[in-house]
Amino acid sequence: MNKIATAEILCVGTELLLGDIVNTNAAFLSQRLADLGICVYRHTAVGDNPKRLEAALKCALDSADLVITSGGLGPTYDDLTKETVAACFGLPLEEHAQSLERIKSYFSRTGRTMTENNKKQAMMPRTAHVFDNNYGTAPALAIYDEKKDKTVIMLPGPPNELIPLFNEEVTPYLKKRTDCILVSKNIHFFGIGESALEEKIKSIMTESQNPTVAPYCKEGEVRLRVTAKAQNESQAVKMCDAMIEKIVGHEVGEFIYGIDVDSLEHALVNALHEHSLSICTAESCTGGLIAERITAVAGCSDVFFGGCVTYTNEIKQRLLGVSAETLDTYGAVSAETAMEMARGAREKLGTDIAVSATGIAGPSGGTPETPVGTVFIGVSTQNGESFRKLSLSSMRSRDYIRTVSATNAFDIALKAVSRLTKN
Ligand code: ATP
Repeated sequence: MNKIATAEILCVGTELLLGDIVNTNAAFLSQRLADLGICVYRHTAVGDNPKRLEAALKCALDSADLVITSGGLGPTYDDLTKETVAACFGLPLEEHAQSLERIKSYFSRTGRTMTENNKKQAMMPRTAHVFDNNYGTAPALAIYDEKKDKTVIMLPGPPNELIPLFNEEVTPYLKKRTDCILVSKNIHFFGIGESALEEKIKSIMTESQNPTVAPYCKEGEVRLRVTAKAQNESQAVKMCDAMIEKIVGHEVGEFIYGIDVDSLEHALVNALHEHSLSICTAESCTGGLIAERITAVAGCSDVFFGGCVTYTNEIKQRLLGVSAETLDTYGAVSAETAMEMARGAREKLGTDIAVSATGIAGPSGGTPETPVGTVFIGVSTQNGESFRKLSLSSMRSRDYIRTVSATNAFDIALKAVSRLTKN
């Protein structure tokens, strides 16, 4: 029996093809197989049709050591996964006494009446390895074909059965059949685009086979996923750490805000905690989004005092003390207003740091001098004020402009923390 190195995932169910359900099983299985060091080559979804299922199965078996199917193991006439796979391997179905007992006791335990077609679920291909399913009546099983050296694992469709079954039964089964594991660590960047980052570390990215280095980007942020394959976890972690060290030392360290952190706001809250510093917000165009994202971080109450949403000029003056002269001379969307908003909030709320945002989120409201996408982020500390001007594309959505503005506010605040704590 050779070790399993590659897999395909084959999800069965016409609902998947109609778009009635999202294929979350494929995503779950891919993540778990990666943890086990098994490379997933392809996801396929087929309807409840034995011919197409057979064709997809043969195709998957051609390329991978292991095929995991989900769905089509129910008691009804259209649940045909087990029958189709068994036929493909030339295995007859036989009653599996233990499964029949399990199904009977499942029905009596849950107070339901067993029907004749439930007995179909206790029919198993000869030589199958049957996993105990304590979460439903559908069977879960594996077939290993020695001649072809191929394995098929069949799991029920409902995620509340498939997930625990995979974790409790299938994982130990697969661990015995793999000889390595994968560990991934993520480096989080802000302030550098994906292509600029790639340019700087191109040689590392292209030369690295193990660990591999892959970039992912989302709304102004980039994440590099470093993945190492090794015989055990500590060896894989060491390999990832060595690669991270190499990347950090490669002129990109200044853009890194964390390793394996959930988000920039998490990194900010962690840093505030670490240095016993407090923060508050003064928001215009983000309308409370900065505060919302900080308060979504568990444990923020020790470091986040509060925030003001000051949309009109009058409220900016009344609540934050922004001067009429500043608003008249520079306008509400200006560096001066952003900094006065932050200063006012910090003084009123008594925090170490305050961040502010004022800008034009669009789609209307822009002018030739201040087009849509112009946002000023202000920051105030006991050492003074500063600002960052964002010139986001006016083609971007209102949501995007507000989200990226809030993310910039976290970045500017994080940099303020490091300035305050430098000595
Ligand atoms: P059952 O005994 O429930 O019939 P089954 O193994 O035959 O089990 P299906 O009938 O194919 O499974 O699917 C049952 C339900 O499981 C679907 O209605 C859907 O809610 C969920 N499901 C099936 N496949 C997936 C999938 N790939 N991703 C997420 N959910 C799924």
